[in-house]
Amino acid sequence: MSSPSIVNIYDGSDGHAAETVFSSGVYAYTYDDIILMPDHISFPVGSVDLSTRVSKNIRLNLPFLSSPMDTVTESRMALGMALQGGMGFIHYNNSIEEQAWKIGNVKRFRSGFIARPYCLGPEATLEDVDRVFAERGFSGFPITSTGSVGGTLLGLITTRDHDFIQNRQKKITEVMTPAKDLITADSKLSLELAQEIMKSNKKGKLPIVDEEFNLVSLISRSDLKKAKSFPLSTKNANNKLMVGAAVGTRESDRQRLEALYAEGVDAIVIDSSQGDSDFQIEMLNHIKRTFPSLDVICGNIVTVRQARRLIEAGCDGLRVGMGAGSICTTQEVCAVGRAQATAVYHVSKFAKQFGIPVIADGGVSNSGHIIKAITLGASCVMMGSMLAGTEEAPGDFFFQDGVRVKRYRGMGSSEAMQKGSKTRYFGDTANIQVPQGVSGTVIDRGTIKTLIPYLTQSVRHGLQDAGVQSIRQAHEFLYEGRLRFEVRSGAAQREGGVHNLFSYEGKLGNKNN
Ligand code: GDP
Ligand code: 5GP
Repeated sequence: MSSPSIVNIYDGSDGHAAETVFSSGVYAYTYDDIILMPDHISFPVGSVDLSTRVSKNIRLNLPFLSSPMDTVTESRMALGMALQGGMGFIHYNNSIEEQAWKIGNVKRFRSGFIARPYCLGPEATLEDVDRVFAERGFSGFPITSTGSVGGTLLGLITTRDHDFIQNRQKKITEVMTPAKDLITADSKLSLELAQEIMKSNKKGKLPIVDEEFNLVSLISRSDLKKAKSFPLSTKNANNKLMVGAAVGTRESDRQRLEALYAEGVDAIVIDSSQGDSDFQIEMLNHIKRTFPSLDVICGNIVTVRQARRLIEAGCDGLRVGMGAGSICTTQEVCAVGRAQATAVYHVSKFAKQFGIPVIADGGVSNSGHIIKAITLGASCVMMGSMLAGTEEAPGDFFFQDGVRVKRYRGMGSSEAMQKGSKTRYFGDTANIQVPQGVSGTVIDRGTIKTLIPYLTQSVRHGLQDAGVQSIRQAHEFLYEGRLRFEVRSGAAQREGGVHNLFSYEGKLGNKNN
């Protein structure tokens, strides 16, 4: 008797192709509604490749982006995300100068080098040194002709030069170590060579200067000991970290773009809660005409019709999500939007035909959501609340009911709009503002230096369980119908979460996992 042949292992008993799940009924699904069927594992978890694209021309080693929100992404977050292998998008709820400065901070980063050291000018006194020390805690400053980086280096002052001097009105130039006695180094210096110089001369600070002896950066001994390499980091052809920025669609945003471009921004998100508009298409056309080298990500959108218009207009990436964000009230206030899993699936499937990557934006609150976004066709995820509780996010931690938290707010919340983000939510011309977001707090999540590796490993495990070895393969298997999904009932969702315990610990949200 011959053994029964396995004719079609993909019948309904092993879940359904995504197309069946998302196109057969009238319901839309969130990430939690669906679950992925496991498949055969034939490779180690470490071999799962998470490299991807954020836009037509920008590749990343990891599919993680930080959202352009004023409680999520400024220089420190963008820098950290790029070093880890993702990318940050700096918000625009600030002046043009502030946003450009934040881009510059990321672009100037070199591990171990202080790109924009705090400097003092020749007129400064020891009182100024004391004041800056009290405000910022730095004990050594270069003195330059202009009082800032870029000026001619005149000298260096450290605690050892001035701590026994009683007269604090004394001019810094009388006390500093003058330039002629300083050990300096050339701006092309490698980190290894800098380490050698610092080791051999026992100095605490090494100013880096250009051919005209203008200050370029500074190396501090204590940083050099900690400096390390970041093998996954997101860098451009010039070996500089990559960074994105958000802009709006107003006339003044054109000026903003010029400043961002001058600082070397790599990608622009045109930030709108409803991205399918004439304003957005005009802005996209403007950027493509004026700065053709910039990748432009349009959004936010959730339907194929919206995607079609933006792709036709020439966007390089699409940001998908409307009303899915944790702080977002758009669906309640405006009754528009779409459940995120459905939105990601349909838009990604359409955009793929044109080679346009989709960013699944909002609604990610655990690694499982990231795995679902990717297996439904997204190329990467953009996160707000997941990252807002890390050290790298702007703002200070404080205690609320005994829990260490940070503030997190929607860019369409009244609080953020008062600070200036109202253009995103079309509130600036109206007499009555309609907030589409809330402000609140998120729990301390430690640092992205541990959170991103944790998410990376979790996503690798999930893809391995589903039998896929890369994001590219996940998308191949998705459209071949080889990835299988099911919709979970409410009871199934409860079963799939922690249940039946009086108390527990160890879920994501605690600092170290
Ligand atoms: P230390 O003796 O190396 O601790 O020197 P400082 O007291 O000057 O503190 C330097 C620390 O502050 C290093 O970790 C620097 O990377 C950091 N830092 C950040 N920005 C600046 C800056 O503008 N100037 C200086 N001196 N340090 C900075
Ligand atoms: P989260 O990761 O917290 O779930 O969602 C972050 C995303 O929510 C952002 O990237 C952005 O697309 C969206 N968002 C940010 N602020 C607001 C807001 O005030 N209202 C709405 N509707 N969406 C917001």
